Amino acid sequence: MAAIDFEAAARYLKGLAPVAGYVRASEGLVVEARGVSGGEAENLAAWATQLVRRARRELGLGDPAAAVFHSPERDVAVAASGGDSIIVISKPGFGEPLLRAITGEGPRCGRCGADLSWAVILCPRCGARLPFSATHCSECGATLHWRRCPHCGAVVDDGGRPARLRERLLAPAARSLPGGGSRGPRGAHS
Ligand SMILES: [Zn+2]
Ligand SMILES: [Zn+2]
Repeated sequence: MAAIDFEAAARYLKGLAPVAGYVRASEGLVVEARGVSGGEAENLAAWATQLVRRARRELGLGDPAAAVFHSPERDVAVAASGGDSIIVISKPGFGEPLLRAITGEGPRCGRCGADLSWAVILCPRCGARLPFSATHCSECGATLHWRRCPHCGAVVDDGGRPARLRERLLAPAARSLPGGGSRGPRGAHS
């Protein structure tokens, strides 16, 4: 994992439909909170800092560290680097795609090689903004098989694998945007 750009991550999260809120913390103190009340933000910041410290000590978790906690109502994703962390509250099933984006571990386009970690797709049914590797819409429940690479236009699945011709003809591909992050097509073919 590369170092985490927490400011870019926060910008990315702001526009996404499945994100209920997030807290950025440094050394256990709240740096920024959105969609989370003051008291809850403080609790989350302290909890995440303790959690990461313990995981590093007891499980030998490296840096950056990332984990998702699932409940029926929501996912809580934590990404940490050094003393800084970000805690993201989202609809169920979105913790992992959001963490992959934040940590830069998202899919790469199987055709052009572009890093799609920070790309966004628009639900073809309701227009909701979703992380690139979402497999369903958090708002209307639509299943999302295909999406277009924002760099080369290839129709790919949630892992960046290109669709075969028959698959391209059978299912619509969601429109995609490069996204709010600052990561470009890192590793693209030159
Ligand atoms: Zn591409
Ligand atoms: Zn939708």
